[in-house]
Amino acid sequence: MKSIIDVHSHVQFPAYDEDREAVIERAKMAGVKMIAVGTQTTTSEAAIKLAHQYPDDIWATVGYHPNHAVVRSDRSVGAADKWHHDLKEQKKAVPEKFDIEKLRSLAKDPKVAAIGECGLDYYRLAISDKRYETSIKEAQKEVFLQQVELAQELNKPLMIHCRPSKGADDAYHDLLEILNPLPPTLNSIVHFYVGSLAVTKKLVAAGFYFTFGGVITFARDYDESLRYIPLERILLETDCPYVAPAPYRGKRNEPAFIVETAKKMAELKNQDFSQLCEQIYSNSKAVFGIKS
Ligand SMILES: [Zn+2]
Repeated sequence: MKSIIDVHSHVQFPAYDEDREAVIERAKMAGVKMIAVGTQTTTSEAAIKLAHQYPDDIWATVGYHPNHAVVRSDRSVGAADKWHHDLKEQKKAVPEKFDIEKLRSLAKDPKVAAIGECGLDYYRLAISDKRYETSIKEAQKEVFLQQVELAQELNKPLMIHCRPSKGADDAYHDLLEILNPLPPTLNSIVHFYVGSLAVTKKLVAAGFYFTFGGVITFARDYDESLRYIPLERILLETDCPYVAPAPYRGKRNEPAFIVETAKKMAELKNQDFSQLCEQIYSNSKAVFGIKS
């Protein structure tokens, strides 16, 4: 039976509070294991708890998402007044200050497979207050750098969230300024990859891994990049509860739906479906040091 690891899911989010067990059961039936990705302390703790409940099927990450790395007028990082709140992620907004020591202590749990998601998000800058643009970018970079160091210190891979502003590659260029060349021991995964072919070539040369999600089933903008990236550097994700693949568009996404993305990937890469799944499964195990 084929196996797939959904390397970037958020099954610990409140979006699944009503039926989490059933969602995980459907994933198991579909041969899908998953990594539950943290976005701040609360969601990282929830990911670790879930990973212990399902030791053979779920792993966790701990990290601080760039959308939460905001500043206030005194420039303190991770403050409340411009903190991003998403109901699917947290029922109540619980802003928290970035605390690398807290992440460090959580990251020592044996079920933690990576540090992140962390990185740069310039997409939301466009819809937030322009006056804060420079200071928010600085805050994101500072918070990201501390997590890069933590990943190196603990010898864990880095789950990177890097989202450019609309139609641009800006955040990828800044990522390359920060991490090029990549330290050879630091497996670095760019999640939900949407870069142009030009920047893809640079990121491949620098040694990054890439994950693709449901968007490849319905948008054709990423085909060129996807075809360029060697299969050994590709992983699969849902980013659930967000961005469900066709034919589930508009619904809440879940790990079992990753099968649709894998099918599309096999078609775009001109590969046999089972062989593609096997290759990507072995990539995922190697990148995250997952044994089963
Ligand atoms: Zn995510």
